[in-house]
Amino acid sequence: ALTIGIVGLPNVGKSTMFNALTKNNVLAANYPFATIDPNVGVVPLPDARLDRLAEIHGSAKVLPATVSFVDIAGIVRGASEGEGLGNKFLANIREADAICQVVRAFEDSDVTHVDGKVSPSDDIETIHTELILADLQTLERAVPRLEKEVKGKKTDKAVLDTALAAQAVLEEGRTLYAAGEAAGVDPAHARELGLLTTKPFIYVFNLDEDQLADADLHARLREIVAPADAVFLNAKLEMDLIEMSGEDALEMLQGFGAEESGLDQLARTGFHTLGLQTYLTAGPKESRAWTIRQGWTAPQAAGVIHTDFERGFIKAEIVSFEDLDELGTMAAAKAAGKVRIEGKDYVMADGDVVEFRFNV
Ligand code: GDP
Repeated sequence: ALTIGIVGLPNVGKSTMFNALTKNNVLAANYPFATIDPNVGVVPLPDARLDRLAEIHGSAKVLPATVSFVDIAGIVRGASEGEGLGNKFLANIREADAICQVVRAFEDSDVTHVDGKVSPSDDIETIHTELILADLQTLERAVPRLEKEVKGKKTDKAVLDTALAAQAVLEEGRTLYAAGEAAGVDPAHARELGLLTTKPFIYVFNLDEDQLADADLHARLREIVAPADAVFLNAKLEMDLIEMSGEDALEMLQGFGAEESGLDQLARTGFHTLGLQTYLTAGPKESRAWTIRQGWTAPQAAGVIHTDFERGFIKAEIVSFEDLDELGTMAAAKAAGKVRIEGKDYVMADGDVVEFRFNV
C-alpha cells in the first residue's frame, strides 16, 4: 500500500498528532488478522456515501478506504551529511510515497522551539534544505555516470536532461515538487534517480485553538506551501476528539469554527495527493470503498478485490452513487435506466457503485 511519511522538527507536535492517528487506527477494528506496526497509522477515509449505501442495502457493516501514515523520526540538521540518524531518516523518506511535514504555528512558552522562535516558513525551509542537499548529492554522483551512459547509448538522453534540470531547480533552493514539470523535470525519471523532493508534499500546520478559524492566517500559510496542500489542526485537540462520539466531536469543532477534524482533513488530503480514488460496492454483508489509482479501468479496479476478478473480468454493472442516492433502491435505479453495463475499457469514476461479472 502507498504510504505517507510524517516528518517535522522536534517539538512541533508530531508525536501528538501521530498518536491521534494511531488511536484512530481502523485496522484493529476491521481487519483482526492484520499485523499492526506501531510506526504505521492506518486511518479511515471519511465517506458519508458508505452510510447511505448501507442504509439502502441493509449492510451489516461499513468498510471505508484507508490511508497509511508512517512516523519518520529524527530529522536533524545535517541529515544530508549522512551521519547516523540522518542516514536512517533519508532511507525512510525514500520508501514513502509522499512527505507530510508537521509545522508548528502554535505559541507556547512551555514548549521550546529548537531555533528559539516559532516561524513556520523557517521550519519548512530547514527541512526542505536537508532534502534538497540530499538530492544534490545524489545528482553529483549520478550526472557523470549518466553522461557516460548517454554517450555509450546505454541510457536515454531524457534521463540526463531531467538530472540537469533538477540540479538547476535544487540549486535555486526549490524542491522538484514545487517547481513542477514546467521546470523540465520528468517525474518518472526523477523517481528512478531516487530524488526525494519530487515526491508530493503535504503540510500540516499545528495551530493554537484560537487560530483554527483564522482564515487570514490560513491563507498566508497556504501561500507559503503552494502548490502543495495544507491541513490546519490542533494536535492536542485531535487527541481529545478521538475520545468523543461523532456528534460531540462535531459540536466541539464547530465551537472552534472548524467543520471537520484535522485527521479527517489529513486522510482526505493524503488520499488525493497520492492520486488515489475510490469505487464502492454494497450488499447485505458490507458497504465498502475500494482504493484505486485515478484513470484505472474496470478490470484493474476488479483486481483490487481479487486477482481472479481481473483475469476473468466480463463486465461491470455500474450506477453512480448520486443516481442511486436519489432513486433510493437498486430496482428503482434499474427501472430508470441508470444502471449501466460497462466493458473492459471503461475508466472508473469516483463514486461508481459497482457489481462485477466474471468467469472463474
Ligand atoms: P514532537 O517532538 O514534534 O513529536 O512533539 P510532541 O508531539 O512531543 O509535542 C511537544 C510538546 O508540545 C508536548 O509537550 C505537547 O504536549 C505540546 N504540543 C503538541 N501539540 C500542541 C499544540 O497544538 N498546542 C500546544 N500548546 N502544545 C502542543
